[in-house]
Amino acid sequence: MDAPLVMSSRIDPSEIDDEAHNMDIMERYPREFYEATRELADPADVEDMMTIAESTLGTDREYTDFRHTHDTTNIAAGPDLSAYKTLGSMEEKMDAQLHLSRKLRAVVESDVAERIIEYHFLPDLIGNLRAFSRQEVRCLDCGEKYRRMPLTGDCRECGGRVNLTVHEGSVNKYIDTAIRVADEFGARDYTKQRLQILERKIESVFENDHNKQSGIADFM
Ligand SMILES: [Zn+2]
Repeated sequence: MDAPLVMSSRIDPSEIDDEAHNMDIMERYPREFYEATRELADPADVEDMMTIAESTLGTDREYTDFRHTHDTTNIAAGPDLSAYKTLGSMEEKMDAQLHLSRKLRAVVESDVAERIIEYHFLPDLIGNLRAFSRQEVRCLDCGEKYRRMPLTGDCRECGGRVNLTVHEGSVNKYIDTAIRVADEFGARDYTKQRLQILERKIESVFENDHNKQSGIADFM
């Protein structure tokens, strides 16, 4: 997903990603800036005392005068290989991120967990559950697709076996992980309840009603 699709031969600073425009280009920060950090001031409130790249856009200084606060002997210094590449599965990466957030005093771990659940797990689970219910079925032999399973269960073109295109595994793959993260990192009750509701929905779709294990108490 990070493969370059377009190569620019001429870089126009006003066309690049906005985030880079927010970068400060000063040699040193004013004392007021440091004082504002102690008050946990909103970045927008201290913007006036800082010079950011955006302020030179469209002027004759837009390509020059990028100052920095600390010198380095090597501009390429830094990790050659990030943990993003050394860690294997998505779950390992997430666990590493969460454990790091637990160690950093400036980071609220429950907030990190909350964001992962709210922006990654929930949309993923909801989307997959929806995809499962609206999926087409496909013949394993000839590849013919049907909007609904033929009543005979066989392919109408070749008589082959017709099967699902979205499987149970891709729907409930991360529900247990999401619930574990919510518990372990203290997500809000609201988030936990959203996961519980989703878990119940997933169960209602996949639980086999005909072959349900029952105990003696169910008959008394
Ligand atoms: Zn077929």
